Amino acid sequence: MNQDGSGSGYSIFEGTMADMTYPEVRDAAQQGAVVLWGFGVIEQHGPHLPLATDVYLPSILLRGVKALLEKTGISSVIMPPFYWGINGVTGIFPGSFEVRPSVMVELMIDLVKSLKKDGFGQLFCISGHGDALHNRTLLDGLKRGAAEATMEAYFIGSPDFFKRLGFDPADPHTIATEREVERKSRFVDVHAGRFETSSMRRYFPDVVRSHLVAGLKPTDLGPDGLAEWRKGQQSALKMTPQGYLGDPAASDPKLGEAMLAEQTRLVADAVATKAKPRGNIRDDRTNRDLSPPIKF
Ligand SMILES: [Zn+2]
Repeated sequence: MNQDGSGSGYSIFEGTMADMTYPEVRDAAQQGAVVLWGFGVIEQHGPHLPLATDVYLPSILLRGVKALLEKTGISSVIMPPFYWGINGVTGIFPGSFEVRPSVMVELMIDLVKSLKKDGFGQLFCISGHGDALHNRTLLDGLKRGAAEATMEAYFIGSPDFFKRLGFDPADPHTIATEREVERKSRFVDVHAGRFETSSMRRYFPDVVRSHLVAGLKPTDLGPDGLAEWRKGQQSALKMTPQGYLGDPAASDPKLGEAMLAEQTRLVADAVATKAKPRGNIRDDRTNRDLSPPIKF
């Protein structure tokens, strides 16, 4: 940041509707743009990652998804990220903010109605936060918003993630990605560990406390330890006194880049199964029909 407060720090509004003007939003809706929306929370992420990690990572992902969709003639806009949510597991730590599920649902209903008012017809949501209650509330809010606004709305996530949450595979408001992003680790790694730290080091290095990363020991919890951690609050504090669950020292920015590239393709594919393109799009060279559904 510069001395006068201006500066080049990361903005979670980058590439979103928040940095557009109202005529640009109006035109996008008229051209049939779909809406992409990332859901995170402000939550402790160990001593080395910022509280907004679960907001930053969906933001960078959706910028990539938007670019891929554009190539197939699917226009999109990105909602400003949702970042007040439910931190049932790590809410006890400083910096983890919590809202009640009912508040989150009501807020979502109003925001989906706002999109409808602007003329948008399709909404695709992704989550950057693993808390089960948060994600069940997200789906609840999405369904309520979609019903009250009469709008198409979908929650995109990986098959394993949706299974853990107990979502019905036939739920018309969910789209499971074709497969999991490959994530190999010696240790159970679910929070501020090897994976999130790799991605943050690659895309948002200025807010990573890099000097701490190498000294963080892996937590080495098995399935029972993970289940105990997921009980949350005092259990989370006891199992992971430093806040992270995994192996941050094994992080690698290259891994962060590879995971993001794969996830971007998987999410774009999922959107393309439902999104309506601007028209029949053909590849100039091969004359191949690029209208969805298409694989990236
Ligand atoms: Zn996280």
